[in-house]
Amino acid sequence: MSILPKKILYWYDNNKRILPWRINASKNKKEYYILVSEFMLQQTQVKTVIPYFLKFVTKIPNLKALSKCNEKKVLKLWEGLGYYKRAKNLHKTATILVKNYNSKLPKKFEKIIKLPGVGEYTASALSALAHNKACIPIDGNVKRVLSRLFLIEECNANFHKKVKKIFSKLPNTNRNADLAEALMEFGAIICRPKIPLCKICNLKKYCKSFKRENYLLPKKSFSIKEKKYNIYCYLNKYKKKIALAKNQDLSFLNNFKMPEIQMAVASNNLKKGRWHYLCNYKNNISNIKMNINLFYKFTKKIPKKFHWYSINKSGNEFIPSFTKKIITKIEKLYL
Ligand code: SF4
Repeated sequence: MSILPKKILYWYDNNKRILPWRINASKNKKEYYILVSEFMLQQTQVKTVIPYFLKFVTKIPNLKALSKCNEKKVLKLWEGLGYYKRAKNLHKTATILVKNYNSKLPKKFEKIIKLPGVGEYTASALSALAHNKACIPIDGNVKRVLSRLFLIEECNANFHKKVKKIFSKLPNTNRNADLAEALMEFGAIICRPKIPLCKICNLKKYCKSFKRENYLLPKKSFSIKEKKYNIYCYLNKYKKKIALAKNQDLSFLNNFKMPEIQMAVASNNLKKGRWHYLCNYKNNISNIKMNINLFYKFTKKIPKKFHWYSINKSGNEFIPSFTKKIITKIEKLYL
């Protein structure tokens, strides 16, 4: 399928979306934009990322500024985007790049992949997009396109190996960065998960799935089990405050400032004391479906590790959306 790069680049040139990190800019700025956008795009869709990206690069315009920033500011700008570990890793990566690599992304893949928060996929994306290296970042979109084009099951244990072999036989292009972007974009717009737009696809003549009318629809993701949690809020009635502490117990909420949270192992394992039930709600976080019972009590005494936080505060302090949701529910008690 030696025609693949040519065909897909032709499609890309005529259909690519205008995205804020794709603008023409100096090499340093472009690298910075690629870095920030790639961290933000890990687990988040393009349309959600755009406003966060724009705000982020307006407030922190370059790598040096990011490395000098304190983490709280970075987290504040990330607020609402979720998966906050990405923000912390981006910050750490910026510091390393400024200190050890003269504020540039290293050229070698082996060095890029050692940066905090950079796995195989992000390292491939950074190498391709920033250095025009012949790397194919295989995200969900790319995986789907390639699995259909070459009729390889996505769950095939040797998927990556087989794809690498196919690409190694394709003619070289001097547009590796565009090819990587083009494959991702093509998967998002044309070779869509449920209903691929085969009729208008300029690859259909070469596509094994199209020829055999076997579209290799992505396997349904296994259903994630819902888990029950109890959250206990200490409240100061007169000062309108809630006690928050950094959670250390549940790894997926690690270091979030929040009220006390416990897994509800059995329906009767409630915390002792005068706790009042407020409501039940659901919150999905890091692929975990949380079914939450929210409890509160008015008190002036709080456990040592907690600190009071003003419910009306809209200051600069970073509060994760998970905790903000709790505060919104608690606010109703003060109406
Ligand atoms: S023909 Fe259909 S299945 Fe094949 S690459 Fe194009 S859109 Fe995807």
